[in-house]
Amino acid sequence: MALVTADTTPPIATREHTVDGFTREFLRELNFGQGVDLTRASVNDKYLAMARTVRHYLMTRWIETLRRQAELQAKSVAYLSAEFLLGRQLDNALLASDLQDIVREGLANLGIDLDELREAEVEPGLGNGGLGRLAACFIDSLATMNVPSIGYGIRYEYGIFQQTFVDGRQVEKPDDWLRLGSPWEFPHPEAAVTVGFGGHVEQYQADDGVVRRRWVPGWSVLGVPYNYMVPGYAKGRVNTLRLWSARATHAFDLQIFNSGDYAEAVRAQTFAENISKVLYPEDSTPQGKELRLQQQYFFVACSIKDFVDQVLPEGYDLHRLPERIVFQLNDTHPVIAVPELMRVLVDEKGWEWDEAWAVTKQCFAYTCHTLLPEALEVWPVELLGRLLPRHLEIIYRINDEFLAELRETYPNDELRVRRMSIIAEYPVRAVRMAYLATVAATKVNGVAELHSQLLRDKVLDDFAGYWPDKFTNVTNGVTPRRFVKLSNPGLSDLVTEAIGDGWVTDLDQLSGLEPLADDAEFRRRFREVKQANKRRITDVLAARDGIEVHPDTMFDVMVKRLHEYKRQTLKLLHIVSLYEKVTTGKIRLEDVTPRTFAFGAKAAPGYVLAKQIIHLINAVGSTINSDPALEGRLTVAFPANYNVTLAETLIPAADLSEQISLAGKEASGTGNMKFMLNGALTIGTDDGANVEIRRLVGDENFFLFGLTEPQVAELVDRGYHPSAYYETNEDLRHALDLIASGAFSGGDRAVFEPVVSNLLNEDRFLALADFQAYVDAQARVDEAYADTEDWTRRAVLNVARGGFFSSDRSMRDYIDGIWHTHPVPPGS
Ligand SMILES: *Cc1c(COP(=O)(O)O)cnc(C)c1O
Repeated sequence: MALVTADTTPPIATREHTVDGFTREFLRELNFGQGVDLTRASVNDKYLAMARTVRHYLMTRWIETLRRQAELQAKSVAYLSAEFLLGRQLDNALLASDLQDIVREGLANLGIDLDELREAEVEPGLGNGGLGRLAACFIDSLATMNVPSIGYGIRYEYGIFQQTFVDGRQVEKPDDWLRLGSPWEFPHPEAAVTVGFGGHVEQYQADDGVVRRRWVPGWSVLGVPYNYMVPGYAKGRVNTLRLWSARATHAFDLQIFNSGDYAEAVRAQTFAENISKVLYPEDSTPQGKELRLQQQYFFVACSIKDFVDQVLPEGYDLHRLPERIVFQLNDTHPVIAVPELMRVLVDEKGWEWDEAWAVTKQCFAYTCHTLLPEALEVWPVELLGRLLPRHLEIIYRINDEFLAELRETYPNDELRVRRMSIIAEYPVRAVRMAYLATVAATKVNGVAELHSQLLRDKVLDDFAGYWPDKFTNVTNGVTPRRFVKLSNPGLSDLVTEAIGDGWVTDLDQLSGLEPLADDAEFRRRFREVKQANKRRITDVLAARDGIEVHPDTMFDVMVKRLHEYKRQTLKLLHIVSLYEKVTTGKIRLEDVTPRTFAFGAKAAPGYVLAKQIIHLINAVGSTINSDPALEGRLTVAFPANYNVTLAETLIPAADLSEQISLAGKEASGTGNMKFMLNGALTIGTDDGANVEIRRLVGDENFFLFGLTEPQVAELVDRGYHPSAYYETNEDLRHALDLIASGAFSGGDRAVFEPVVSNLLNEDRFLALADFQAYVDAQARVDEAYADTEDWTRRAVLNVARGGFFSSDRSMRDYIDGIWHTHPVPPGS
């Protein structure tokens, strides 16, 4: 072990970057850390030892990053997010530490297969879907770009549930991801902070004679920080992700212990620890649950306290806080941070209200992630006042002053003033968190061009009128490290051979592939990579799910959360219609393009209709898959438990990317970008980032269909009657009738009646209205796919023109337009 020293700073241990050096470190971890010898070590022993060894190799950069930051106090981004859907860590750590080849060789020398250890890792599923995955991509990009930043979130003991299917129905299992050890985290119980809840607010006379208000919480919990390394690619910074875990406070226990009730004291402990126990599994439709508000306040209060008391140097002048930090609010979940910072400054630091507000409103920026009204969080005043009485007072005052300001600008428009109030009056008095965020933030951004436009024009139009400059767009992105370099090594190697490896951190360089779309030899190799990826997923599906698919079919993939607005039913209707036509002889099987229809989707456990749709997809799948006549022609593959790990093998194998949400409902989508960068063509609506994908790849390389957002608005305005489409479209009628007949449920007509009748009578997201356009677009897909060379050419162009969708570019946009931070490399 070597030591490096820089002037008078203490030395940092380093590791030898060789096969022998690695092997020594690994055996040391296995023997001394894990306490087993190689012959008796389980796969989990070896995985844990391996993970700890790899993290040692990143440690020098982490320590240097922290030292550098302590020294320079450069402006940082605190990314506040209730979710970080990280995915497995090992591969990314190996890539970041440049150990991939060394480790494979070192392990092989010991008779260990690296892939077996990789498979042993349980992914930390601390998020529901796109929003949480976005946060994970962003912190990866920030580290790679050497931007000082810290991620703050919750260390849920149980992440997103494990989905299983029982007779085709979704059954949820708890995600006990910590069970076999968690080698990537660094707990710091000594740095725990206390967070209050409940109680009351009292008036008192301060030492300076001024009458002030203060919060006397009724109970409190401890927040214990767990640090995770966020290693940048190559030699970049290693930033920190700090996730909070709830523990009972001693004070809390003591009272009850003193009263002699041991059992009650232990129960109370469990009560406190409930706060970080489980991730709420709702995506886009939050439930107004008390525990959820507790979680939100818990992590945000911990984070602000941590930043102010621990991260900032002692005696830091908080008036200069905006020079040092920007808190980015990932959706409304962390918005309670706004009144919390006000409370800290006014109540704890003794500042004047105006002084505190002037600083607070420079410290936050807000990202809105939705357009669905049901996704906009509101907290009933009754609940918020009971749990956080002082915060409610502060919110009221923020609102009073805001409304007074509005009345000056709009003296004759009380209706507008009331529309813009942070407090909603109906159906119950409640705090609109998106409005609070908008009032407090320096910038409000949507996540794709269309979404940002709709935010300005519809969801927050009054605010955009009042503060036109506050609103901006940052189109989402995905990290090319995880979603190309690691997940698609075949494509990565091919691309690197063609244009060098600069694309990994500068994805615009993919445009260098453009001429190769016309190079037959390049296309042949590109196809070979796709084919190898299909074989890989074929093996995975067989081993993981016992699903048999055929690698020489078109892989038509729709993976994302199950939600009506995303319209899995639209794809299903297409499949059922195809099946109906083939089985009734309306079309010949030989004329059908052999396809594998792949789905991956979890439904929120309380979302009944979504779960029925899952059941129906599985039922249709098992009918089609068990029809010997269709073998190798039509297959439905619905592996359970779609997660980041599955995305990483499924997406590189896709030929066709299904992005078919109702126009105006998907804020951005990021799955769409992952597919594009892996050489799939998109069939999609004019929604979210699809709009930008289509513009970049060109109309001729994108299968557009369906109503546009204004057409949707008009149709809904006129009155939408789904049954009219059923009456007039024969194919659609046959497909729906077939489902209703019980053909997929052993003759039982009741099972899927709710799905069918919902489509016929309600169809909130206009699946029937877009059915024919979708089927027509699929016919264009078939036609295009038949020309293999031309299809490959278009697939190459998708990769070549996808560079814009790197999350590095998203970060650049945030930095230039919102954060105004500067890169600081670790060793500089
Ligand atoms: C990228 C990703 C998502 C988001 O997919 P969308 O199609 O944008 O909704 C959801 N879940 C996982 C596991 C992902 O990797």
